[in-house]
Amino acid sequence: MIIIMLGAQGTGKGTVAGLLSENIRIPQISTGDIFRKNISDKTPLGIEADKYISKGNLVPDDITVPMVEDRLTWEDAKEGAILDGFPRTIQQAEKLDEMLSKKGKKVDLVVNLVTPRDEIIDRMLTRRVCTNQECKATYNIKLSPPKVEGICDKCGFALKQRADDSDPEAIKKRLEIYEEKTSPLVEYYKNKGVLRTEEISVSINRMGTDVAKSIVEDLKND
Ligand code: AMP
Repeated sequence: MIIIMLGAQGTGKGTVAGLLSENIRIPQISTGDIFRKNISDKTPLGIEADKYISKGNLVPDDITVPMVEDRLTWEDAKEGAILDGFPRTIQQAEKLDEMLSKKGKKVDLVVNLVTPRDEIIDRMLTRRVCTNQECKATYNIKLSPPKVEGICDKCGFALKQRADDSDPEAIKKRLEIYEEKTSPLVEYYKNKGVLRTEEISVSINRMGTDVAKSIVEDLKND
C-alpha cells in the first residue's frame, strides 16, 4: 500500500505518518528527514541539498526523485510505504506514478491535512525535533511538550529547533511554495479518487493522533 501525506508544513504530516507506520507496519519515508540526515552527516547530497533547504526552497528534482526511487527499492518498502514530503509538485507526482507503475503499484491513499494558517505558523515556531537521527521524535513545546524540557522522552538526546523553522523568512517562503507548487496536488489526487481530507486544529479539538486512529480503523474495516 502506498500512502502519501499531503498538507502544508506544520499540519502534523510527520506525526500522522509515524502513527500510521507503527500501526500498519510499512515504513514512513520522509524526504525532509533523509535530507536532514545527509546534512548532519555532511554527505555530498546533504551539502548540495542544504543550499536550497536553508533558504526554504525546494531541492531540485534531479536530486530528490532518484533519492526517493532508490529508497522505495529497500527491502522494508516491499509491502508499501508512507511518503511524507514527497511528491511536492505535479511533476514529482507524475514521476512517482511512473516509478510505481513500473512495479505494478499505484498510489492507494492520499491523506490531505488541513490546518488554519495562524496555527500552522505557531506550530512551526514551537516545534522541536530530537537531534538523534535514529529517533527523530517531534515535539511541540505548547501542545505536546517533552517530560523534561529540551530532552527527548524516547531516547534522552537533546531537542532542537529545525534551522528552517527558526527563520521567519524561510517559513514564509515554504508556505508560499506550498500554496503555489504543492497545493495543486489536492486536485490531482482528488481526480484520481484517492484523496482523504482531514482537518487538524485545536479549535475543533482534533489532533494528529485522532486522525491517525480513524484512518487505521477505516483501513482495518476495508
Ligand atoms: P520537510 O521536512 O518535509 O518540511 O522538508 C524540509 C525541506 O526539505 C523542504 O523545505 C525542502 O527544502 C526539502 N524537501 C523535502 N521534500 C522535498 C521534495 N519532495 N522536493 C523538494 N524538496 C524537498
